[in-house]
Amino acid sequence: MNGVLNTQLGLTRTLRGLTATFGRLDHDGYDERDTELHLASNRNLGFVECFYWVRKLQARFLAGDHSSAVDAAMNAQPLLWNTPSNFETVEFHLYGALAHAAAHDVASGDQRRQHFEALVGHHQQLEAWAQHNPVTFENCAAIVGAEIARIEGRVLDAQDLYEKAVRSAHTQGFVHNEAIANERAGCFYAARGVEKIAATYLRDARYCYRRWGADAKVRQLEQLYPQIGAEGSIAAATGTIQTPVEHLDLATVIKVSEAVSGEIVFERLIDALMRAAIEHAGAERGLLILPRGDEYRIEAEATIGSSDVKVELRQTDVTAAHLPVSVFRYATRTRESVLLHDASGQSSFSDDEYVREHHARSVLCLPILKQTRLLGMLYLENNLARHVFTPSRMAVLKLLASGAAISMENARLYRDLAEREDALRALQTDLAHANRLATMGQLTASISHEINQPIGATRNNAHAALRFLAEDPPDLAEVREAIECVVKETYRAGEILGGIRDQVKKVPPRMEGVGLNEAIEEVTLLVRGELLKHQVSLQMRLADGLSPVHADRVQLQQVMLNLILNAIEAMIGVGDNARELVISTQSIPEGKLLVTVQDSGPGVAPENRERIFRSFYTTKAGGVGIGLSICRSIVDGHSGQLWVDAHQPRGAVFSFTLPAHH
Ligand code: ADP
Repeated sequence: MNGVLNTQLGLTRTLRGLTATFGRLDHDGYDERDTELHLASNRNLGFVECFYWVRKLQARFLAGDHSSAVDAAMNAQPLLWNTPSNFETVEFHLYGALAHAAAHDVASGDQRRQHFEALVGHHQQLEAWAQHNPVTFENCAAIVGAEIARIEGRVLDAQDLYEKAVRSAHTQGFVHNEAIANERAGCFYAARGVEKIAATYLRDARYCYRRWGADAKVRQLEQLYPQIGAEGSIAAATGTIQTPVEHLDLATVIKVSEAVSGEIVFERLIDALMRAAIEHAGAERGLLILPRGDEYRIEAEATIGSSDVKVELRQTDVTAAHLPVSVFRYATRTRESVLLHDASGQSSFSDDEYVREHHARSVLCLPILKQTRLLGMLYLENNLARHVFTPSRMAVLKLLASGAAISMENARLYRDLAEREDALRALQTDLAHANRLATMGQLTASISHEINQPIGATRNNAHAALRFLAEDPPDLAEVREAIECVVKETYRAGEILGGIRDQVKKVPPRMEGVGLNEAIEEVTLLVRGELLKHQVSLQMRLADGLSPVHADRVQLQQVMLNLILNAIEAMIGVGDNARELVISTQSIPEGKLLVTVQDSGPGVAPENRERIFRSFYTTKAGGVGIGLSICRSIVDGHSGQLWVDAHQPRGAVFSFTLPAHH
């Protein structure tokens, strides 16, 4: 592995401009020649060797040593089987193709033909991958396709394909391939004498190489094409952290990183970001601007007070009253930071309304980017002094923006997640309510029968009371007894109706101390008719002296109703066996209470004992399969457990626990 890492380090260093020769992998104690001899002498190092040649191919190609790049590609080819699914294989085909295309231009005769054939071979492989996965491979296939079109003289095709390569690499965030595509396009136009367009592509190439961190390549481009000029005061964007190390001091780096990392509550993150930005930048005032739908809004404003930084969260439109709109628009469009050392002086933005009115001096508009996505914009100003945003402060700010980009993304995901959890909870409540309505619907017939009974009894007793009153003398003792019955029966009807109302009402859950036995007895009132109809005997084995459970009464009763109705249905299904339903309660260790609902039905096969709790699992013709899954989520929500066992000699026993109420 060391070999692999050292090779990778060699490529990184040479691209950064930290090796003696651009394009060579040699660095402290690592020597290309020694490495090649060592790898060739050991057959077991095929993977490392393949990796080495691919990295060398890249380094040589980027440095412009095309014949050495082709040699490296030839050496890698027979070893490729060692790395079939590694990314080096892709790089081998892309850089191999580009090296052959470049070598083709200066070769003649047979060699020229061989380079072209190799180029086409690489292209076929890249095209095949692009068909399957355009996101990753389209840009590679397009760059190589453009090179083939260029060689074949298909000018328009070449133009289209270079542009496609640039666009695709840009969209997917492959900044290194975007750099290469731009460079190849620039060379193509330069060779055709179209200088203006060439310079545009080459400038973009330099910009992308800079973002990638390939400083040696940037220098090479500037030397080869002086017409693209040196970089101006508009600094590079902050796609990746590419802050020059020499501009940072460790203590500040740690402070700044700590300020924004790990903060997942959006509002607190914004506050931390703005404070850190003002404290470390020497700004007097700062704004954080975030996209909201199609627009941008100012989300926070930080100002420096006499003793500390004041951060205000707000939601305001971006207008000329708040900042130089032209600077903001430029930075948004180009995703590059705009740094003005003296905005009111000699600057392309000195005509801006805000700059004029506020005599703006030091102005900085810094995009907060995640890959190519613009997450927001940090605007900082100091209208008292020029040249406030020094290179070291810029370095800190860029670091801050990179850290903020990651944290903002995390905070956004966290917020989305929190909103989704909430939505899920609402959905569960709706579902549970729908289940209660359905259960009540199922019970309508037997409940109306059940209510008819006390109404009938009330009527009979009232008639009897009238009769006893009409006697001479009236039999008052009988009248009293009949009226007592009327009162009792109306209470009974009232209780049943109350039970129905509770189940049908849509109320938010309310956790309280609930008498377990009483809650269960209320439920049995609702199912009495059903039990009678199907000749099911009910035994209640309710323990005395139980402490109340910590529960939502309606939900607890919903669980009981579901379990009882399931038990009745299961027993109906198995014909004429005695139908026995036993409900028990007891207290168990650890301050919990246990409820069991036991039937004499067919039971649940061991392999289905978990499955029946999943949503939409049902074995009933008209079943929906959500009853038990709702019961389980209710019991889970009460920090309890619900499960099923076999009951001997036959039947199922559903048990659930609930915590006692303290
Ligand atoms: P549904 O009643 O609509 O089918 P449930 O989630 O309440 O939905 O039940 C899922 C399945 O679990 C039932 O279809 C049945 O196969 C099984 N089941 C539930 N209760 C019992 C029981 N007491 N005995 C045997 N099987 C049962």
